[in-house]
Amino acid sequence: MKIRITEALDLDLAAEKWCCNRCGKELVLARENYKKGCLVRERMPVEVHNPLVENSPFSFAPDPEWCRIIEFYCPQCGLMIDNEYLPPGHPVTHDIEFDIDDMKRRHGIDAKTKTKDKTKKTGTM
Ligand SMILES: [Zn+2]
Repeated sequence: MKIRITEALDLDLAAEKWCCNRCGKELVLARENYKKGCLVRERMPVEVHNPLVENSPFSFAPDPEWCRIIEFYCPQCGLMIDNEYLPPGHPVTHDIEFDIDDMKRRHGIDAKTKTKDKTKKTGTM
């Protein structure tokens, strides 16, 4: 069972995988950041934001000393799954995280039953 999460991203609950919405490629485990399963491209802001005034030292592109544009693509079909503007050196964000066990329970899919009882008492009373 696949649930559409974003325009480009599906969640396969039974398989617990992130999938490309266009081609169905399984990207990475659903409990991980889906961006780990994507091709990543860093772009200069002037490539994305073309100057509005020709031959001018000023444009409306973000300053590359302060901003990087990171794009995430499906490794199979090339669909852009997401992009984000980050300060240089900033780690990739983990922006979508679900309680997978709860989602499976709500959709009638058997969630892994956790049988470990961490409160088990040891020793004598
Ligand atoms: Zn794809």
